[in-house]
Amino acid sequence: MDTTGGDDCGDSITRLYYFLDGELTEERRAAISRHLDECGPCLSAFDFEAELRQMIAFRCRERVPDGLLDRIAAAIRQEKGGLDGLGGPFPV
Ligand SMILES: [Zn+2]
Repeated sequence: MDTTGGDDCGDSITRLYYFLDGELTEERRAAISRHLDECGPCLSAFDFEAELRQMIAFRCRERVPDGLLDRIAAAIRQEKGGLDGLGGPFPV
């Protein structure tokens, strides 16, 4: 089914991801911006995505403490070792 209304929300939502990644041409970005101005639901979706990405970017910039990674690795090793009692990281 092809709607010729021009207000294609589904398409806009899909393009939001590219929009946020900065992978669209100026023309396409302008079209999406215009759609967001006129469409509440799409704007909400855009706001949510933008916020989510900002949060992820912020967290990734933070240094992960070495001790945390060690503890996670140890926990995984312990769990695997506990299954068969051999203590080796054997692939299943
Ligand atoms: Zn829309």
